[in-house]
Amino acid sequence: MIESLSGPRRAKVWCDNARARGLRIGYVPTMGALHRGHLSLVERAARENDLACASIFVNPLQFERADDLQKYPRDEARDHALLEQAGCAMVYGGALAQFFPRDDAAAAAARDAGKFARGLEGKFRRGHLQGVRAIVEKLFATVGACTAYFGEKDFQQCLLVQEIAAEFDGIDVTVCACVREESGLAMSSRNRRLSDAQLRAAPKIYQALCAAQSAWRDGERDSAALEKIMRAQMQDALIQIEYAEVRDAANWSEHAPPDLRNAGQPRALIAAYLGAVRLIDNAALG
Ligand code: AMP
Repeated sequence: MIESLSGPRRAKVWCDNARARGLRIGYVPTMGALHRGHLSLVERAARENDLACASIFVNPLQFERADDLQKYPRDEARDHALLEQAGCAMVYGGALAQFFPRDDAAAAAARDAGKFARGLEGKFRRGHLQGVRAIVEKLFATVGACTAYFGEKDFQQCLLVQEIAAEFDGIDVTVCACVREESGLAMSSRNRRLSDAQLRAAPKIYQALCAAQSAWRDGERDSAALEKIMRAQMQDALIQIEYAEVRDAANWSEHAPPDLRNAGQPRALIAAYLGAVRLIDNAALG
């Protein structure tokens, strides 16, 4: 039976006790409304460690729009059952005030989130990555030494989280591949808010990434040209592109480097709206 704990204090005791028994912990932070993408992380955490645990916390600090936070899907009973099936031994959640009992959450979320929060998500979702940093620090402090599993779908978040983990003793981050629908659409809790017509259009985001990969294979190294190719692939009345850009993940920059010939880890990244639903995706070039 999965243990469901309320509040980070109880979760910390559980994790401390597990480590005292010599058990290695795999940890998967989530915001719930779980799908196969999340569960692939939990299954891997369970496989690669003695115990897997997860958190479900819809972090208000990382939502820059109140309506987005309010509409974020929540389904706790189903989530707990899925976590148990995936081999998760403990899940915890809590209220924002429980994560910030002494310090001011708003002040924590106003702190600079560092270089990986510059550009793209940092530009278009003002305060989002700052909110992520503020809560991930609390989640890591709660669970302590562990291997934490994050999805590559949230690529910029992964870069940020790896930086945060380096500030903690004994926390390693494993970045996991994106799980996709058969159509190529990256699984996301937000997909359930898409209409049938939007669901048919949304795979164009992945097709745009594939088009950029194909152009890269053909030798295209010009950022503007790659961006144009991605935008052309997403031409659709139902898709409103927010950004379709490239970065060198080995040398993160606020703006796209114009020429990617010397890029160590070239990556294409997209954010687009389908109606009110914002989707992101990305893929390695090269
Ligand atoms: P979220 O609940 O959206 O905060 O996601 C929790 C974790 O699951 C994050 O590390 C995400 O990157 C990861 N995740 C979300 N969607 C997918 C997916 N389609 N494939 C793999 N991991 C994912």
